[in-house]
Amino acid sequence: MIDRYSRQILFREIGEEGQKKLGNSSVVIIGCGALGTIIATSLVRAGVGKVKIIDRDFIEYHNLQRQVLFDEEDIESQLPKAIAAERHLKKVNSSVEIEGVVADVNYANIERLITGADLILDGLDNLETRFLINDVSLKHKIPWVYGGAVSASGMTTNIIPGETPCFRCVVPSLPPSAVIHTCDTVGVIGPAPFVIGSLQSTEAMKILVGTKEINRGVIVIDVWQGTFRSFKIEPRQDCPTCQGRYEFLDGKFGTRTTALCGQNAVQVLNPESAGLSLEELAKRLSPLGEVSYNEFMLRFTVDNHEMVVFPDGRVILKNTTDESLARGLYAKYIGT
Ligand SMILES: [Zn+2]
Repeated sequence: MIDRYSRQILFREIGEEGQKKLGNSSVVIIGCGALGTIIATSLVRAGVGKVKIIDRDFIEYHNLQRQVLFDEEDIESQLPKAIAAERHLKKVNSSVEIEGVVADVNYANIERLITGADLILDGLDNLETRFLINDVSLKHKIPWVYGGAVSASGMTTNIIPGETPCFRCVVPSLPPSAVIHTCDTVGVIGPAPFVIGSLQSTEAMKILVGTKEINRGVIVIDVWQGTFRSFKIEPRQDCPTCQGRYEFLDGKFGTRTTALCGQNAVQVLNPESAGLSLEELAKRLSPLGEVSYNEFMLRFTVDNHEMVVFPDGRVILKNTTDESLARGLYAKYIGT
């Protein structure tokens, strides 16, 4: 096994000592899209002892452009991302304990899912679950590495409980859905998440081997412009999470889903999205599917899913009782 890692051990900042630490470490990667596949690949190859990969989605053709662990066979086999990732990576490094978990991470299950982890890595496509990770990180004193990429740009930062400001110090609350750009509305080119995922993997290795010189600011990149910037962040005095109030973990905020009995439909409710502009939403969604709206509701049809959106941020997904699918589509198209 030493031979497998010989080039990494030669790198002075890792060395034999660092390699042992990586081997004794356990990480959880939440979200296995473009960022998650890069992070999982890097850390499994680097010999991190235990890698848990959590994702709720199946693989689609439009993922292959940037989600480097998956292939056409995975789609034909209709594999969930977490399972396909586990299968591919077990062939890469059989000495790592790899566990793919197909789950929608929410306030009811996140504490169980991260039990025993030394570090949490964010490979998500939505802000709401990041607030949850932030809560659970501070509550259980487990560091996490934030990463996000959309279009040609991306950013990353480390959140070390008790040492750095937290995510909610920087982003106090969920922004209105209409201002959030996602990969499904403005697109993304592969190199943006590749760079961010690589930076996250590097910070993960640094944190796991115990280096003191970790990134304590926010790194912002734009691969199209070729720019790389970094800025400091300050702790916010009135940050509830830093004061030990875990509002997202307590289920106080965020998306609620309810299967609408007898209607074969699921309702998704996000109080933070109240005051949604249907006109703006229609502009954003019309290139992606069929949209019609009036002042009371917006009807959106995409990939055989029909959604009805109300100005109070409520969405009804028709012809299904699958709450996890509804949350996924909400995050994808409505924003948070
Ligand atoms: Zn804070």
